[in-house]
Amino acid sequence: MNLEFNHETLGQRVLFGRNKAATNVAAEVDRLDAKNVMLIAGEFEQEIATNVTDDIQVTVNYSNVVMHVPIEVANDARQAAIDNSVDLLVCVGGGSTTGLAKAIAMTTNIPIVAVPTTYAGSEATNVWGLTEAARKTTGIDNAVLPVTVIYDAELTMSLPVDMSVASGLNGMAHCIDSMWGPRADPINQALGTEGISALSDGLPAIVADASDVAGREQLLYGAYLSAVSFASAGSGLHHKICHVLGGTFDLPHAQTHATVLPYVLAFNMDAAPDAANKIAKALGAHDALAGLQSLRNTLNAPHRLSDYGFTAENIAEAVEITLPAVPHNNPRPVTAENLTALLEAALTGAHPADLRNQLNSNGA
Ligand code: NAD
Repeated sequence: MNLEFNHETLGQRVLFGRNKAATNVAAEVDRLDAKNVMLIAGEFEQEIATNVTDDIQVTVNYSNVVMHVPIEVANDARQAAIDNSVDLLVCVGGGSTTGLAKAIAMTTNIPIVAVPTTYAGSEATNVWGLTEAARKTTGIDNAVLPVTVIYDAELTMSLPVDMSVASGLNGMAHCIDSMWGPRADPINQALGTEGISALSDGLPAIVADASDVAGREQLLYGAYLSAVSFASAGSGLHHKICHVLGGTFDLPHAQTHATVLPYVLAFNMDAAPDAANKIAKALGAHDALAGLQSLRNTLNAPHRLSDYGFTAENIAEAVEITLPAVPHNNPRPVTAENLTALLEAALTGAHPADLRNQLNSNGA
Protein backbone atom coordinates (compact mmCIF):
# COMPACT_ATOMS: atom_id res chain seq x y z
CA MET A 1 0.00 0.00 0.00
CA ASN A 2 1.29 3.44 -0.92
CA LEU A 3 0.70 5.95 1.89
CA GLU A 4 0.74 9.55 0.80
CA PHE A 5 -1.11 12.37 2.57
CA ASN A 6 -0.75 15.82 4.17
CA HIS A 7 -2.03 15.95 7.73
CA GLU A 8 -2.23 18.86 10.13
CA THR A 9 -2.61 18.41 13.89
CA LEU A 10 -4.10 21.28 15.89
CA GLY A 11 -2.29 22.30 19.09
CA GLN A 12 -4.37 22.19 22.26
CA ARG A 13 -4.00 21.17 25.93
CA VAL A 14 -6.48 18.56 27.11
CA LEU A 15 -6.99 18.08 30.84
CA PHE A 16 -9.18 15.09 31.62
CA GLY A 17 -10.35 13.92 35.02
CA ARG A 18 -13.35 13.32 37.26
CA ASN A 19 -14.08 16.06 39.80
CA LYS A 20 -11.05 17.96 38.51
CA ALA A 21 -12.74 20.78 36.54
CA ALA A 22 -12.60 23.53 39.19
CA THR A 23 -8.94 22.83 40.03
CA ASN A 24 -7.98 22.60 36.38
CA VAL A 25 -9.80 25.84 35.50
CA ALA A 26 -8.02 27.70 38.31
CA ALA A 27 -4.66 26.27 37.19
CA GLU A 28 -5.25 27.40 33.61
CA VAL A 29 -6.32 30.91 34.63
CA ASP A 30 -3.11 31.09 36.64
CA ARG A 31 -0.92 29.63 33.87
CA LEU A 32 -2.36 32.03 31.30
CA ASP A 33 -1.99 34.92 33.78
CA ALA A 34 -5.54 36.09 33.11
CA LYS A 35 -6.74 39.20 34.94
CA ASN A 36 -10.26 39.63 33.53
CA VAL A 37 -12.14 36.41 32.92
CA MET A 38 -15.41 36.37 31.01
CA LEU A 39 -17.49 33.34 31.97
CA ILE A 40 -19.88 32.19 29.27
CA ALA A 41 -22.57 29.71 30.30
CA GLY A 42 -26.22 29.41 29.26
CA GLU A 43 -29.14 29.67 31.64
CA PHE A 44 -29.30 25.91 32.34
CA GLU A 45 -25.52 25.68 32.66
CA GLN A 46 -25.16 28.35 35.34
CA GLU A 47 -25.15 25.97 38.29
CA ILE A 48 -22.40 23.83 36.78
CA ALA A 49 -20.49 26.97 35.79
CA THR A 50 -20.67 28.42 39.28
CA ASN A 51 -19.16 25.25 40.76
CA VAL A 52 -16.46 25.07 38.11
CA THR A 53 -15.39 28.70 38.60
CA ASP A 54 -15.51 28.58 42.39
CA ASP A 55 -11.76 29.09 42.71
CA ILE A 56 -11.36 31.98 40.24
CA GLN A 57 -12.42 35.59 40.00
CA VAL A 58 -14.94 36.26 37.22
CA THR A 59 -15.17 39.78 35.77
CA VAL A 60 -18.17 39.21 33.46
CA ASN A 61 -20.76 36.43 33.61
CA TYR A 62 -22.45 36.23 30.20
CA SER A 63 -25.49 33.92 30.00
CA ASN A 64 -27.36 34.98 26.84
CA VAL A 65 -26.50 31.81 24.90
CA VAL A 66 -28.64 30.99 21.83
CA MET A 67 -28.21 27.92 19.62
CA HIS A 68 -26.43 28.49 16.27
CA VAL A 69 -25.03 31.85 17.51
CA PRO A 70 -27.19 34.62 16.03
CA ILE A 71 -24.96 37.50 14.90
CA GLU A 72 -26.77 39.97 17.20
CA VAL A 73 -25.88 37.85 20.25
CA ALA A 74 -22.29 37.49 19.05
CA ASN A 75 -21.93 41.24 18.61
CA ASP A 76 -23.37 41.98 22.04
CA ALA A 77 -21.02 39.47 23.71
CA ARG A 78 -18.02 40.82 21.77
CA GLN A 79 -18.81 44.32 23.01
CA ALA A 80 -19.11 43.09 26.61
CA ALA A 81 -15.66 41.48 26.30
CA ILE A 82 -14.11 44.66 24.94
CA ASP A 83 -15.84 46.96 27.46
CA ASN A 84 -14.50 44.86 30.34
CA SER A 85 -10.94 44.38 28.99
CA VAL A 86 -11.48 40.62 29.05
CA ASP A 87 -8.27 38.62 28.54
CA LEU A 88 -9.62 35.07 28.92
CA LEU A 89 -12.92 33.42 27.95
CA VAL A 90 -13.98 30.47 30.08
CA CYS A 91 -16.98 28.73 28.52
CA VAL A 92 -18.88 26.09 30.47
CA GLY A 93 -21.62 24.34 28.55
CA GLY A 94 -22.64 22.63 25.34
CA GLY A 95 -21.78 23.44 21.76
CA SER A 96 -23.94 26.59 21.76
CA THR A 97 -21.96 28.05 24.64
CA THR A 98 -18.63 27.09 23.13
CA GLY A 99 -19.90 28.57 19.85
CA LEU A 100 -20.50 31.95 21.47
CA ALA A 101 -17.00 31.95 22.99
CA LYS A 102 -15.62 31.18 19.53
CA ALA A 103 -17.59 34.06 18.01
CA ILE A 104 -15.92 36.42 20.49
CA ALA A 105 -12.45 34.95 19.94
CA MET A 106 -12.86 35.27 16.19
CA THR A 107 -12.87 39.07 16.25
CA THR A 108 -10.86 39.71 19.45
CA ASN A 109 -8.26 36.88 19.54
CA ILE A 110 -9.02 36.40 23.24
CA PRO A 111 -8.00 32.84 24.23
CA ILE A 112 -10.64 30.30 25.28
CA VAL A 113 -10.58 27.69 28.02
CA ALA A 114 -13.49 25.36 27.23
CA VAL A 115 -15.28 23.18 29.76
CA PRO A 116 -17.77 21.03 27.81
CA THR A 117 -20.95 19.68 29.39
CA THR A 118 -22.31 17.83 26.33
CA TYR A 119 -20.72 15.53 23.74
CA ALA A 120 -20.94 17.99 20.81
CA GLY A 121 -17.15 18.33 20.50
CA SER A 122 -16.98 21.96 19.39
CA GLU A 123 -14.24 22.54 21.96
CA ALA A 124 -11.73 20.53 19.93
CA THR A 125 -12.29 22.16 16.54
CA ASN A 126 -11.21 25.41 14.90
CA VAL A 127 -14.64 25.68 13.26
CA TRP A 128 -16.90 28.64 14.06
CA GLY A 129 -20.57 29.12 13.17
CA LEU A 130 -22.78 32.21 13.02
CA THR A 131 -26.38 32.66 11.92
CA GLU A 132 -27.55 35.77 10.11
CA ALA A 133 -30.91 36.20 8.35
CA ALA A 134 -31.73 32.46 8.68
CA ARG A 135 -28.48 31.40 7.02
CA LYS A 136 -25.81 29.65 9.04
CA THR A 137 -22.27 30.40 7.99
CA THR A 138 -19.33 28.36 9.22
CA GLY A 139 -15.63 28.88 8.75
CA ILE A 140 -12.23 27.83 9.97
CA ASP A 141 -9.98 30.05 12.05
CA ASN A 142 -7.30 28.86 14.47
CA ALA A 143 -8.09 31.87 16.71
CA VAL A 144 -11.31 30.11 17.77
CA LEU A 145 -9.64 26.85 18.80
CA PRO A 146 -9.72 26.77 22.62
CA VAL A 147 -6.19 26.78 24.05
CA THR A 148 -7.27 24.30 26.69
CA VAL A 149 -10.14 21.85 27.07
CA ILE A 150 -11.08 20.65 30.52
CA TYR A 151 -13.11 17.43 30.54
CA ASP A 152 -14.85 16.24 33.69
CA ALA A 153 -17.52 13.56 33.31
CA GLU A 154 -19.22 14.69 36.54
CA LEU A 155 -20.34 17.84 34.71
CA THR A 156 -22.35 15.78 32.20
CA MET A 157 -24.27 13.75 34.79
CA SER A 158 -27.21 16.16 34.65
CA LEU A 159 -27.55 15.95 30.86
CA PRO A 160 -30.85 14.08 30.32
CA VAL A 161 -30.51 10.64 28.72
CA ASP A 162 -32.34 11.55 25.50
CA MET A 163 -30.11 14.62 25.03
CA SER A 164 -27.04 12.53 25.92
CA VAL A 165 -27.98 9.98 23.26
CA ALA A 166 -28.52 12.66 20.62
CA SER A 167 -25.30 14.43 21.59
CA GLY A 168 -23.28 11.19 21.62
CA LEU A 169 -24.64 10.37 18.16
CA ASN A 170 -23.61 13.87 17.06
CA GLY A 171 -20.10 12.77 18.06
CA MET A 172 -20.59 9.51 16.17
CA ALA A 173 -21.54 11.57 13.11
CA HIS A 174 -18.26 13.50 13.35
CA CYS A 175 -16.39 10.18 13.37
CA ILE A 176 -18.31 8.59 10.50
CA ASP A 177 -18.23 11.71 8.31
CA SER A 178 -14.46 11.89 8.92
CA MET A 179 -14.09 8.59 7.06
CA TRP A 180 -14.87 10.35 3.77
CA GLY A 181 -14.50 14.04 4.63
CA PRO A 182 -12.67 16.14 2.02
CA ARG A 183 -9.31 15.77 3.85
CA ALA A 184 -9.81 12.22 5.18
CA ASP A 185 -6.49 10.48 5.80
CA PRO A 186 -5.28 7.45 7.78
CA ILE A 187 -4.56 9.58 10.89
CA ASN A 188 -7.97 11.21 11.21
CA GLN A 189 -9.60 7.87 10.28
CA ALA A 190 -7.70 6.19 13.14
CA LEU A 191 -8.91 8.86 15.57
CA GLY A 192 -12.43 8.53 14.18
CA THR A 193 -12.55 4.74 14.58
CA GLU A 194 -11.31 4.97 18.19
CA GLY A 195 -14.05 7.59 18.70
CA ILE A 196 -16.70 5.23 17.29
CA SER A 197 -15.55 2.49 19.68
CA ALA A 198 -15.61 4.78 22.71
CA LEU A 199 -19.04 6.20 21.85
CA SER A 200 -20.52 2.80 21.09
CA ASP A 201 -19.30 1.59 24.51
CA GLY A 202 -20.45 4.65 26.44
CA LEU A 203 -23.89 5.21 24.91
CA PRO A 204 -25.52 1.88 25.90
CA ALA A 205 -23.90 2.15 29.34
CA ILE A 206 -25.56 5.48 30.13
CA VAL A 207 -28.90 4.41 28.65
CA ALA A 208 -28.83 1.43 31.04
CA ASP A 209 -27.78 3.67 33.93
CA ALA A 210 -27.73 7.45 33.47
CA SER A 211 -25.46 7.84 36.49
CA ASP A 212 -22.74 5.55 35.08
CA VAL A 213 -19.85 8.00 35.28
CA ALA A 214 -17.42 5.62 33.55
CA GLY A 215 -19.86 5.45 30.61
CA ARG A 216 -20.06 9.23 30.52
CA GLU A 217 -16.27 9.40 30.57
CA GLN A 218 -16.17 7.14 27.51
CA LEU A 219 -18.59 9.55 25.83
CA LEU A 220 -16.39 12.57 26.58
CA TYR A 221 -13.30 10.73 25.38
CA GLY A 222 -15.19 9.71 22.21
CA ALA A 223 -16.54 13.24 21.77
CA TYR A 224 -13.01 14.65 21.86
CA LEU A 225 -11.69 12.10 19.34
CA SER A 226 -14.71 12.67 17.12
CA ALA A 227 -14.09 16.40 17.03
CA VAL A 228 -10.36 16.08 16.38
CA SER A 229 -11.01 13.70 13.49
CA PHE A 230 -13.76 15.97 12.12
CA ALA A 231 -11.64 19.14 12.36
CA SER A 232 -8.87 17.35 10.52
CA ALA A 233 -10.93 15.58 7.82
CA GLY A 234 -13.31 18.49 7.18
CA SER A 235 -17.08 18.62 6.70
CA GLY A 236 -18.40 15.77 4.62
CA LEU A 237 -21.86 15.21 3.15
CA HIS A 238 -23.45 14.58 6.56
CA HIS A 239 -22.30 17.90 8.01
CA LYS A 240 -23.27 19.84 4.91
CA ILE A 241 -26.83 18.48 5.13
CA CYS A 242 -27.21 19.02 8.89
CA HIS A 243 -25.73 22.50 8.67
CA VAL A 244 -28.55 23.51 6.28
CA LEU A 245 -31.23 21.76 8.36
CA GLY A 246 -30.08 23.61 11.49
CA GLY A 247 -29.26 26.99 10.01
CA THR A 248 -32.15 27.38 7.56
CA PHE A 249 -34.92 25.33 9.14
CA ASP A 250 -33.89 25.80 12.78
CA LEU A 251 -33.86 22.09 13.57
CA PRO A 252 -32.18 21.11 16.86
CA HIS A 253 -28.52 20.33 16.26
CA ALA A 254 -27.81 17.05 18.06
CA GLN A 255 -31.17 15.40 17.23
CA THR A 256 -30.78 16.33 13.56
CA HIS A 257 -27.31 14.75 13.40
CA ALA A 258 -28.57 11.68 15.23
CA THR A 259 -31.45 11.27 12.76
CA VAL A 260 -29.61 11.93 9.49
CA LEU A 261 -26.52 9.80 10.23
CA PRO A 262 -27.80 6.33 9.18
CA TYR A 263 -29.09 7.76 5.89
CA VAL A 264 -25.71 9.30 5.01
CA LEU A 265 -24.02 6.04 5.97
CA ALA A 266 -26.48 4.12 3.76
CA PHE A 267 -25.84 6.66 0.98
CA ASN A 268 -22.04 6.49 1.01
CA MET A 269 -20.98 3.11 2.39
CA ASP A 270 -21.09 1.02 -0.78
CA ALA A 271 -19.11 3.66 -2.63
CA ALA A 272 -16.49 3.69 0.15
CA PRO A 273 -15.97 0.03 1.13
CA ASP A 274 -12.70 0.57 3.05
CA ALA A 275 -14.29 3.27 5.20
CA ALA A 276 -17.38 1.11 5.70
CA ASN A 277 -15.19 -1.80 6.87
CA LYS A 278 -13.43 0.43 9.37
CA ILE A 279 -16.76 1.71 10.71
CA ALA A 280 -18.14 -1.82 10.98
CA LYS A 281 -15.03 -3.05 12.81
CA ALA A 282 -15.19 -0.13 15.27
CA LEU A 283 -18.86 -0.92 15.93
CA GLY A 284 -18.04 -4.61 16.38
CA ALA A 285 -20.36 -5.51 13.48
CA HIS A 286 -20.06 -7.26 10.11
CA ASP A 287 -21.87 -4.47 8.31
CA ALA A 288 -21.53 -0.77 9.22
CA LEU A 289 -25.20 0.09 8.71
CA ALA A 290 -26.47 -2.97 10.56
CA GLY A 291 -24.06 -2.15 13.42
CA LEU A 292 -25.18 1.47 13.62
CA GLN A 293 -28.87 0.54 13.47
CA SER A 294 -28.46 -2.09 16.18
CA LEU A 295 -26.81 0.52 18.42
CA ARG A 296 -29.50 3.10 17.60
CA ASN A 297 -32.26 0.60 18.47
CA THR A 298 -30.66 -0.05 21.86
CA LEU A 299 -30.58 3.70 22.45
CA ASN A 300 -34.08 4.46 21.16
CA ALA A 301 -32.36 7.12 19.04
CA PRO A 302 -34.14 9.97 17.23
CA HIS A 303 -35.28 8.55 13.89
CA ARG A 304 -37.28 10.97 11.77
CA LEU A 305 -36.90 14.64 10.90
CA SER A 306 -40.68 15.20 10.91
CA ASP A 307 -40.46 14.97 14.73
CA TYR A 308 -38.34 18.14 14.73
CA GLY A 309 -40.40 20.37 12.45
CA PHE A 310 -38.98 19.45 9.03
CA THR A 311 -41.64 18.96 6.32
CA ALA A 312 -41.87 17.56 2.79
CA GLU A 313 -42.31 21.14 1.54
CA ASN A 314 -38.85 22.01 2.91
CA ILE A 315 -36.99 19.34 0.94
CA ALA A 316 -36.56 21.18 -2.37
CA GLU A 317 -35.08 24.25 -0.66
CA ALA A 318 -32.81 22.09 1.52
CA VAL A 319 -31.51 20.27 -1.57
CA GLU A 320 -30.94 23.52 -3.43
CA ILE A 321 -28.87 25.01 -0.60
CA THR A 322 -26.97 21.82 0.29
CA LEU A 323 -25.99 20.66 -3.20
CA PRO A 324 -23.38 23.34 -4.04
CA ALA A 325 -21.69 22.82 -0.65
CA VAL A 326 -21.18 19.04 -0.94
CA PRO A 327 -17.48 18.09 -1.24
CA HIS A 328 -16.61 17.13 -4.79
CA ASN A 329 -14.85 13.97 -3.56
CA ASN A 330 -17.87 12.53 -1.73
CA PRO A 331 -17.68 8.77 -2.40
CA ARG A 332 -21.08 8.61 -4.16
CA PRO A 333 -21.66 11.50 -6.58
CA VAL A 334 -24.47 13.61 -5.12
CA THR A 335 -27.32 14.76 -7.35
CA ALA A 336 -30.54 16.65 -6.66
CA GLU A 337 -32.35 13.36 -7.20
CA ASN A 338 -30.41 11.16 -4.78
CA LEU A 339 -30.14 13.92 -2.16
CA THR A 340 -33.92 14.32 -2.34
CA ALA A 341 -34.28 10.57 -1.81
CA LEU A 342 -32.00 10.78 1.25
CA LEU A 343 -33.98 13.64 2.80
CA GLU A 344 -37.33 11.99 2.04
CA ALA A 345 -36.17 8.87 3.86
CA ALA A 346 -34.84 10.87 6.83
CA LEU A 347 -38.05 12.91 6.99
CA THR A 348 -40.27 9.90 7.48
CA GLY A 349 -37.86 7.59 9.29
CA ALA A 350 -37.87 5.03 6.44
CA HIS A 351 -35.49 2.11 6.91
CA PRO A 352 -32.01 3.31 5.78
CA ALA A 353 -31.35 -0.12 4.23
CA ASP A 354 -34.18 0.63 1.78
CA LEU A 355 -32.44 3.85 0.72
CA ARG A 356 -29.18 1.90 0.31
CA ASN A 357 -30.90 -0.70 -1.91
CA GLN A 358 -32.73 1.96 -3.90
CA LEU A 359 -29.50 3.88 -4.64
CA ASN A 360 -27.54 0.75 -5.48
CA SER A 361 -30.23 -0.60 -7.78
CA ASN A 362 -30.60 2.76 -9.55
CA GLY A 363 -26.83 3.04 -9.84
CA ALA A 364 -27.50 6.58 -8.51
P1 NAD B 1 -26.49 23.02 23.28
O1 NAD B 1 -25.19 23.56 23.64
O2 NAD B 1 -27.47 23.93 22.64
O3 NAD B 1 -27.14 22.36 24.59
C1 NAD B 1 -28.43 21.77 24.54
C2 NAD B 1 -29.18 22.04 25.85
O4 NAD B 1 -28.58 21.27 26.89
C3 NAD B 1 -29.09 23.49 26.30
O5 NAD B 1 -30.35 23.87 26.83
C4 NAD B 1 -28.06 23.47 27.40
O6 NAD B 1 -28.23 24.50 28.33
C5 NAD B 1 -28.31 22.12 28.02
N1 NAD B 1 -27.17 21.53 28.70
C6 NAD B 1 -25.87 21.56 28.33
N2 NAD B 1 -25.12 20.84 29.18
C7 NAD B 1 -25.96 20.36 30.13
C8 NAD B 1 -25.79 19.51 31.27
N3 NAD B 1 -24.60 18.98 31.57
N4 NAD B 1 -26.86 19.22 32.01
C9 NAD B 1 -28.10 19.67 31.66
N5 NAD B 1 -28.34 20.46 30.60
C10 NAD B 1 -27.27 20.79 29.83
O7 NAD B 1 -26.38 21.75 22.32
P2 NAD B 1 -25.10 20.99 21.72
O8 NAD B 1 -25.67 19.88 20.95
O9 NAD B 1 -24.10 20.70 22.77
O10 NAD B 1 -24.44 22.05 20.74
C11 NAD B 1 -25.08 22.45 19.55
C12 NAD B 1 -24.39 23.65 18.92
O11 NAD B 1 -23.00 23.42 18.85
C13 NAD B 1 -24.86 23.93 17.51
O12 NAD B 1 -24.99 25.31 17.29
C14 NAD B 1 -23.75 23.38 16.66
O13 NAD B 1 -23.65 23.98 15.41
C15 NAD B 1 -22.55 23.63 17.52
N6 NAD B 1 -21.42 22.72 17.26
C16 NAD B 1 -20.32 23.25 16.70
C17 NAD B 1 -19.23 22.44 16.44
C18 NAD B 1 -17.99 23.05 15.87
O14 NAD B 1 -17.02 22.36 15.65
N7 NAD B 1 -17.97 24.33 15.65
C19 NAD B 1 -19.27 21.07 16.73
C20 NAD B 1 -20.44 20.56 17.30
C21 NAD B 1 -21.51 21.39 17.56
